Amino acid sequence: MASQDDPALKQLYRTFITGCHILHYHGVLDAYGHLSARHPSKPEIFIMSRYIAPGTISSERDLIEYRVEDAEPVDPGAPKGYSERCIHSELYKRYPGVQSVIHSHSEAVVPYSISGTKTPIFDIAYHLLPTDAKDMLVRNTHLGAALAACFSDNNDENHDPTDTTPKHAVVLMRGHGFTTHASSIQECVLRAIYTQKNAGIQTTALITHNAFFKGGIEADAAEIKYLDEEEAAASTEMTKWSAYRPWGLWVREVEAQGMYVNQV
Ligand SMILES: [Zn+2]
Repeated sequence: MASQDDPALKQLYRTFITGCHILHYHGVLDAYGHLSARHPSKPEIFIMSRYIAPGTISSERDLIEYRVEDAEPVDPGAPKGYSERCIHSELYKRYPGVQSVIHSHSEAVVPYSISGTKTPIFDIAYHLLPTDAKDMLVRNTHLGAALAACFSDNNDENHDPTDTTPKHAVVLMRGHGFTTHASSIQECVLRAIYTQKNAGIQTTALITHNAFFKGGIEADAAEIKYLDEEEAAASTEMTKWSAYRPWGLWVREVEAQGMYVNQV
């Protein structure tokens, strides 16, 4: 999988490694969680790192090509990879436009996966087979497919195969974390970082609201006012074209840290 003869692949590798560093620097990934990207010229292949913490990925030797079909390595002799790579493969399989996926166990987001929210929640307990371990991990393709279905409203077992556009940017995973996707690594990193930031803002808003209004000093005041659907849709469009501005800042941040190495 050497990239010296493929400039697009080499650029993707470099962006991928930097993206892992940014996600670690911002606390979206720690020793756990992962980023993936679809191969730039072979859509049936995606790329993830070997079984190491994302902040320590540094070279092409740390990256592995996997088949979208079954999340198995293209090279049978590849080093050990992450056990939850079916989260990624099934999103690439169901949604051809998805180019990058992030799975995180963000501490700011997990509380919303067990307390209720408008964001879709994938509850693995409804999809386990008798042979599946109850350790919350998405270890195989049938669990990955069930998670991928949560990204669209067409999520029953007899889903329409022509419906290949995910409706939701983020799906929460009960007691576990969240998964997001995008049409580029940069946009995916932005979505993951702002999912975490927005969860923190919402938590602060809820605490503040309860302190002031739920039996507090303004007990009869209005409910929290969230973005309406039109505001949310317009804001989603806006962030798509602005994703590269924070990316430039985030790259400089990780380049200024001694621990991150990108040899590509
Ligand atoms: Zn996980």
